[in-house]
Amino acid sequence: MSESGHLAGLGLRTDTARAFRSDALVLFGVTGDLAFKKLFPALYQLAGDDRLNMPVVGVARSSWNDERLRARARESVVAQLGSVDEAVFAKLAGSLSFLNGDYQSADTFRRLREHISSAEHPIFYLAIPPSVFESVAACLEESGLNRGGRVVIEKPFGRDLASARALNDYLHRAFPEEAIYRIDHFLGKETVQNLLVFRFANGLLEPIWDRRYIANVQITMAESFDVQGRGGFYEEVGALRDVVQNHLLQVVALLAMEPPIGVDAEDQRDEKVKVFRATRSIDPSQTVRGQYKGYRSEANVDPDSQVETFVALRLSIESWRWAGVPFFIRAGKNMASTSLEAIVEFKQPPKLLFADVDSPSPQANHLRFRLGGKDEGINLSLQAKVPGGQILTRPVDLGFAYDEVFGSDRMEAYERLLGDAIDGHAALFARQDSVEQTWRIVEPVLRNPGPIHHYEPGSWGPPAADQLAVRDGGWHNPKEAA
Ligand code: NDP
Repeated sequence: MSESGHLAGLGLRTDTARAFRSDALVLFGVTGDLAFKKLFPALYQLAGDDRLNMPVVGVARSSWNDERLRARARESVVAQLGSVDEAVFAKLAGSLSFLNGDYQSADTFRRLREHISSAEHPIFYLAIPPSVFESVAACLEESGLNRGGRVVIEKPFGRDLASARALNDYLHRAFPEEAIYRIDHFLGKETVQNLLVFRFANGLLEPIWDRRYIANVQITMAESFDVQGRGGFYEEVGALRDVVQNHLLQVVALLAMEPPIGVDAEDQRDEKVKVFRATRSIDPSQTVRGQYKGYRSEANVDPDSQVETFVALRLSIESWRWAGVPFFIRAGKNMASTSLEAIVEFKQPPKLLFADVDSPSPQANHLRFRLGGKDEGINLSLQAKVPGGQILTRPVDLGFAYDEVFGSDRMEAYERLLGDAIDGHAALFARQDSVEQTWRIVEPVLRNPGPIHHYEPGSWGPPAADQLAVRDGGWHNPKEAA
């Protein structure tokens, strides 16, 4: 089967229900950080693949003009991608125009309507602070620009279950659910998409992918850097809201879901939401929140801050497949390495043959998905006999590294996601019900956060986090730091 055939079969590409292409892209907040870091490079890459071919209108309150916008786009491409291909940039620049206006003024939206008057299916990217989403959605509705259109929003999708519901309510006044594209950039990562391909394109895995053979699953997202001057932002968020409720629970769903029944985006999204519905809300007594020493001295951080820069927790998925298998999640800043890994640990084999051999031989097998960091790939840890007269075993790795096999040239998450939103492929975007379920899962700890444990910068978090997994054999630290 062709590569695209596999992807379509997994519901990653085909979306029969709504696959019309957008014919104009409007970027609200085009002067901001996200546009500079992610959106201009993605647009440039789409232009290079001949997938843009439509007017791109940047809207902002700043009094820029077309030339200033094009200069900013160039600056961004150089900063993020290192160089500019002039022919590609000319295509991007030719589609860009700027519209100045306040996001709450009817006049801005009247002028925008004139500006894109020939578009029947505009797509609106809200690269603006969430506090402005509501008024922009209302103005899009009042001006009629919403009709036939789509909207793309960025996390955070609320701060808790109640605010996520409120956000969904006012977005739904202007757009039906199928026209709302909530970006979780993790879902655009090649390595994260490969979780589904690896699971469902390899016949040997599915028969052993359940509670009978798997002992536990661990996901670690570690960053070796601190809040990097963004203490003010972090004080409002913390690790649970920043990466667990969204990115890491999406990874859990990809590891735990049943095979989708068909090729439509909804088939895949239905399976994910089933995982979330089967997941118990987290128990604060099975959660450890940490804060690196020195965080309270960061700029714009409360000297008595109780915000977590680290969180570790144990999840239970009460489904036929997973009952009794703990899913551990751990995420933090200022840790021993920068890495993103998921480990699937299989059950220990009986020791019969090795009864006379000192523990720990043989160790349990595990699959290590290296989803981010320097060395993305997959390893299967197996036991092999150490040469010699005795029956001694040692773990050995069967490995695959993306760069070695496929080279380092991979599609960036934002290019994939922006391209998918333009084309109407919704599989890689978070649906309302899954967003609300994930808030429901983390809500007990938001309400009852418990104490903060301090940890040394450059460590694996507070010792209390080790205790959480000790009964299940402890954490597997990411490979480069193991
Ligand atoms: P910025 O703070 O850079 O704001 C983007 C633009 O919005 C600004 O350039 C400004 O444009 C306008 N703006 C800022 N504050 C206000 C305000 N109070 N009222 C009206 N307009 C305002 O945001 P980002 O670009 O960082 O983020 C955009 C969205 O993406 C947000 O929802 C954010 O949560 C999300 N996000 C951002 C990430 C990032 O890496 N930056 C990562 C993940 C999500 P002007 O004044 O010219 O109109």
